[in-house]
Amino acid sequence: MKQNRRKFIKFAGVAAAALCTAPAVAKAAGGGHAAPIMKNPKGLEAERWAMVIDTTKLKTEKDFAPLIEVCHKIHNVPQIDSNQEVKWLWTGSYDETFVEQPNPHMNEELKERSYALLCNHCENPPCVRVCPTKATFKRPDGIVAMDYHRCIGCRYCMAGCPYGSRSFNFSEPRDHFTEEELKKLNPKFPTRMRGVVEKCNFCVERLAVGERPACVEASKGAMFFGDLNDPESEVRQVLRERFTLRRKPSAGTEPSVYYII
Ligand code: SF4
Repeated sequence: MKQNRRKFIKFAGVAAAALCTAPAVAKAAGGGHAAPIMKNPKGLEAERWAMVIDTTKLKTEKDFAPLIEVCHKIHNVPQIDSNQEVKWLWTGSYDETFVEQPNPHMNEELKERSYALLCNHCENPPCVRVCPTKATFKRPDGIVAMDYHRCIGCRYCMAGCPYGSRSFNFSEPRDHFTEEELKKLNPKFPTRMRGVVEKCNFCVERLAVGERPACVEASKGAMFFGDLNDPESEVRQVLRERFTLRRKPSAGTEPSVYYII
């Protein structure tokens, strides 16, 4: 009997200690996870990630095709040729991209360029404000991320985004891959499910292991990526030296994507 009591007291002590330390572990992990998350020491970090796209170098559909291909391939984005298409990176005309900067007399070449479109990872993201389940959230490094398992498919984020940067899975994404393509899916990135919203994630999974976004790598120097809050970073240097535009300034969202014009 005494033995049982001693065992119980010992168990209660361990349980109480675990309860006391659990919040600290969760806090250190940066969120509501009970278990600690091991960080890769090679991971890239920033106070606020930003991207600069040089539209003087990337200006045709052909220029963007390999970038779109690599992005969609590593993120298992299906090719759906209808108005139910899912896209993380795509292109638009000058008028679609810079709707608030129309100029009928502008340089023809500038007007004829294609412009890369993606999530802007806004400083003030309306998509985060309207999400009822916190499935979309802003990370401390400025990346607007998604937890697909929390998404209930209400699409408020799609209505809230002033840039049309989000896609909805009207059908089961895996159904749009052939048997051969299914075998070649990237096993390191989850496929999504029907009824879930998705978008560009600034390649958080690559940053976590020390790699820059796939489109930036594929652009061969025509895209820059770095810490907007670091005056010595490459993006800050480029922003000091070149004239850039951001999309829909009147929306007040403060996009993290800049276009060299
Ligand atoms: Fe959200 Fe749209 Fe801004 Fe991306 S571009 S952070 S989806 S509001």
